[in-house]
Amino acid sequence: MVDTIQTANNANMAKTKQVYTSTNKPIWCAGCGDFGVFASINKALTELNIDKSNVAIVSGIGCSSAMPHSFSTYGVHSLHGRLLPTATGIKLANSDLTVIGTGGDGDGYGIGGGHLVHTARRNLDMTYIIMDNETYGLTTGQTSPTALLGRKTKSTPFGVIEMPINPMALAISAGATYVARGFSGDPAHLSQLIKGGIEHKGFALIDIFSPCVTFNHENTYDWFRPRVYKLESQGHDPSNLNMAMEKAFEDVQTKYDKIPVGLFYKTLRPTYEELELSFQNGALVKQAMPTKEQLHSIMEENL
Ligand code: SF4
Ligand code: MG
Repeated sequence: MVDTIQTANNANMAKTKQVYTSTNKPIWCAGCGDFGVFASINKALTELNIDKSNVAIVSGIGCSSAMPHSFSTYGVHSLHGRLLPTATGIKLANSDLTVIGTGGDGDGYGIGGGHLVHTARRNLDMTYIIMDNETYGLTTGQTSPTALLGRKTKSTPFGVIEMPINPMALAISAGATYVARGFSGDPAHLSQLIKGGIEHKGFALIDIFSPCVTFNHENTYDWFRPRVYKLESQGHDPSNLNMAMEKAFEDVQTKYDKIPVGLFYKTLRPTYEELELSFQNGALVKQAMPTKEQLHSIMEENL
């Protein structure tokens, strides 16, 4: 009888749709691309119906890093560029959690650029969403690592003279196993990319054109719309590494006339969690703590 009631309760719980959003009002300017990203993450989580007590959303610093406040999952608003070390710590402590990083291009490709390379090559099972507006919005519009050559900003009044980061090529060559790019002006498409990233077993990087309507008046929705096209509409094979790298440079080579969005590259290789011996008995947080004697014996064996 008790079993029957328990089974019925479990079935009802499985059917219950989770609400992932919080009651906090977003801080973004009206029209900011981050609204489309927020809606897309919410749609992806809702479709996946993951238990929200098993979701942690982690951010760095910047306008887009306010994202965790808009969700009722667990969340950490961490330090500038330190989103990935924080997310890594969470994943190592409890590898059963769905961990999602949300931050900007300055945070992720500038200050946190080194962390991106090493987290990608470790292939931790997490999703990193970068809202790329080619500027530092929170500090009122300086040049960021993805700002295009020649663009005049308050920190480069004579135009940018440094090559922009190529997020797709960087992530693929660093070892990310799911590499995609979306556009916040197309949330339906974007939510499917995010859903695929969350479902993917391994490190997923999703770069998103997310216009800053206040401080970037060049890379606007109207600038992107005629330029972006979907990779899947042209038969792109995301398992083909060479083709993925070729597509990663198509925007530069066409002088930004053609900008592909969609899933560039996807492959499967063992995740860090699968290879790390400490996780073989399950998530660390669920394992029994070793006794003082066991700790001493481990130290003696290894010193
Ligand atoms: Fe968005 Fe730009 Fe406003 Fe920041 S400053 S909230 S990036 S529109
Ligand atoms: Mg930015």
